[in-house]
This record gives sequence, structure tokens and C-alpha cells, in this order.
Amino acid sequence: MQFSAPKGTNDILASHTPLWRYVEGKFHEIASLFGFQEIRTPMFENAGLFSRGVGEGTDIVTKEMFTFSHSQKEMFALRPEGTAAVVRSYIENGMSSEPKPVKLYYIENMFRAENPQKGRSRQFTQFGIETLGSASASTDAETISVCAFALRQFGISNVELNINSVGCPVCRKAYYEKLSVFLESRLDSMCPDCRSRAAKNPMRVLDCKQEACQAATAGAPLMLDNLCNDCASHFEELQHCLAASKIEFSVNPRIVRGLDYYTKTAFEFLTNDLGSQSAVCAGGRYDGLAETIGGKPTPGVGFGFGIERLLLLMEAQGVLPNLGARQTGVFFASLDSQSARDALGYAMECRSKGIAALTDTLSRSLKAQMKYADKLNSRYVIFLEAEKTSQGIATVRDMETKEQFDIDLSGIASLFDK
Ligand code: ATP
Ligand code: MG
Repeated sequence: MQFSAPKGTNDILASHTPLWRYVEGKFHEIASLFGFQEIRTPMFENAGLFSRGVGEGTDIVTKEMFTFSHSQKEMFALRPEGTAAVVRSYIENGMSSEPKPVKLYYIENMFRAENPQKGRSRQFTQFGIETLGSASASTDAETISVCAFALRQFGISNVELNINSVGCPVCRKAYYEKLSVFLESRLDSMCPDCRSRAAKNPMRVLDCKQEACQAATAGAPLMLDNLCNDCASHFEELQHCLAASKIEFSVNPRIVRGLDYYTKTAFEFLTNDLGSQSAVCAGGRYDGLAETIGGKPTPGVGFGFGIERLLLLMEAQGVLPNLGARQTGVFFASLDSQSARDALGYAMECRSKGIAALTDTLSRSLKAQMKYADKLNSRYVIFLEAEKTSQGIATVRDMETKEQFDIDLSGIASLFDK
């Protein structure tokens, strides 16, 4: 029986890992330029953390979680997103006593049982940041600027930043009443998902991508027109801070995070270059989350940035970096069986000096060994033949200049001195 990778998962093959390491390396650099420190949380958590922390009414919780149990006692879920786990760790590890704000980032796999399509898989990777302990609009602007900066660093263009405010529990209560009245008479023309959202999470109806729902909600009252003074001035300040950071944006009153613990700022970076998967990065403020999962009230803001979507976008825009061929140090070509054994020892010596070294372990002909060394992109080939080795010397071929010369076997490292 032959097995395939599970639906919606992908192997990242050796030809692609250098690109991944490059992109991940850049994200580590970017995070540190903004003063974020890396956190790594478990790949699975108690399922309840996500149903509370992400929200019972969200797609992630209602449809997309991979859950499992080991005993009857506990239900676990593969991490579908990073924020709830980071906030859980912040509370559990007493990070509120650290100098504020606490700025954390992660590069981690997420798991969601969705229908796989281009740019939408069941295991994917997010670069995410979370800032905890600051309620200011300038922190929201800084969060957004990390994403804008990253997109610029990767050479991406044609991405539009949309921002909105989803209010707070104070202003949202009165707004939900208005919105529910509006939606009630239109339920019949909305998709089944939105019919149930209308009761649990009415604001989410506004960002449904279905045409029927968009038509049905045209003219719906908007949160943005119903903000309390505090939320309205936060939103205004955010716009000033974005302008000061020289970040362009559009206000889009239909962007929604949509549960009580999401507050004020919501934002998305959208592109037309990824087909129907238009969001590259999305985030917002979640001032009520820590309390919801058992901590002290702690303001927070963050985003999740999909790395697979970033790579697709880089490809679509022709900005994938040329990482060049990787050059390995030396290849020991052996001319006889004793030399093949000796090669193992010389290769170990090279490695301990930090020089990548490879040998032939398949007893191939010299011609085949040379072909292999060429494929490996070895910088030097060192020919080992018993007669010469016994005198401590070997012939070297510089694979770049094609020059051939003899060297003292104790001096291989000096080949790399230049
Ligand atoms: P979408 O509307 O595309 O489903 P979302 O609102 O579920 O996105 P978030 O939970 O905000 O997305 O996640 C942030 C980012 O993570 C997205 O903007 C996207 O880049 C990436 N992402 C989310 N789900 C997937 C997935 N299934 N496959 C690949 N990337 C994803
Ligand atoms: Mg989704």
C-alpha cells in the first residue's frame, strides 16, 4: 500500500527549504528590528482554550478545528491560530510582571480542517506577533507597520491595507440591537452560515464573501458609525499614527473580527494577485481575550501572516530571491578501496574545522564520482590514491578555475583561507 500526505498538507522538498529558511530568517530579523522576542507554544492545547479564546461563533471553532482526545477526560485541538495560545502562556507564566508592553512573535504551523485550495491548506505556517499590556492606538499602528515593513522587505507590491474599528462591548451592545433588527427581515436571502451567524455573531455577516449576503446587507448599519467616544478617538489616533509611520490605508467598515473580546482595531492586508484567497495578513486588537481565558484584564493586539500565501505572492509578482546554488566545501574522490576508507577520516577532520566534506560511499568509478561532485557543487575535489596518501599528499581540483595541483593533506583548511 502506498501512502500520500494527508489532504491539505504539503511536503516542503529539499529544493524549497532554502527559500523557507530565507523567508523565516527575514521574519526573525524583522521581529527583532521591532523588539519582538520569539515564543514557542505547544502544537496542541486544550480545545476549550480555542473555543473560548477564538470564539464559539467563529468558523475556526465551529468547522475547522482538528480535535482529538487521548483519554475520555480531556479534549485537545491542534493549534488553529497563535493568539489564544500566546495569551494562555502569558497568563500561565506570569508575564504581566515583565516590563510592558510584552512583545512576542512566533513562526509556527497552524492546522485547520478547511477545503484545500491554492493558498488554503490544512497545515500552514504563520508569522505572528502579539503585543500585550498596551491599550494605545500607537501600538496598533506599530503592529500594522511590522506587516507593512515585512511586505516591503520581501519586495511585494499591490497589497492594500484595510482598517476598521469593531468597537468595544460598551458601544457594540447598542449597535448589535440595531443590526439585528436590520438583519431579521433579510435572513431568508442570506446563506445558511450567515443565518446562524446573525444570532451568535451578527457583525460577521457583514464580511461574508457570498454575493447574496453582500446584497442583503447593503445599507446595514455600520459599527464605525456607532462607536462610543473612546473607540472613535482610538480609531482617529490610529489613523494619525499610520500617517506618521507613512503607511497607506483605506477604511473598510466591513472588516470584522467579530466577538466580544475583539475590540477596536481590525485590519487586513489584501491583494488581487492570489485569486480568491485575498488576505495575506490579518489582525486586530483583543482587549477582552485575557479575561475570557481566565487572566487579568490585559489589552493586546497582533496579527497572523500566512507564509505560504506570501510565497505564492512573491512567485506571482516575480520577486522570489535568487538564492544561488549552495556550494559545499570538498569532495573526496577515491581511486581505490583503501582510499575510500581514508576519505572517511579526512572528511571528519574537515568537518571539525567547519568545512563541509563529502565522500563517495557507493564505490563509483572516478568519472561517476566527478559527475556527482559537480552536481553537489563542491568547491574542491580531492583525489585520494593510496600511493600519494601514504606520503601525506593529494591532488586537488579547483572546480571553479579547473586548476589542478598537489597539496599537503594536513593543509586542506588553507584552501579556504582566502
Ligand atoms: P481567510 O479569510 O482567508 O480564511 P482567516 O480570516 O481565516 O483568512 P486568519 O485567521 O486571520 O485568516 O489568519 C491570518 C492569515 O493566515 C491569513 O491572512 C492567511 O494569510 C493565513 N491563513 C489563514 N488560513 C489559512 C489556510 N487555511 N491556509 C493558508 N494560509 C492561511
Ligand atoms: Mg479562514
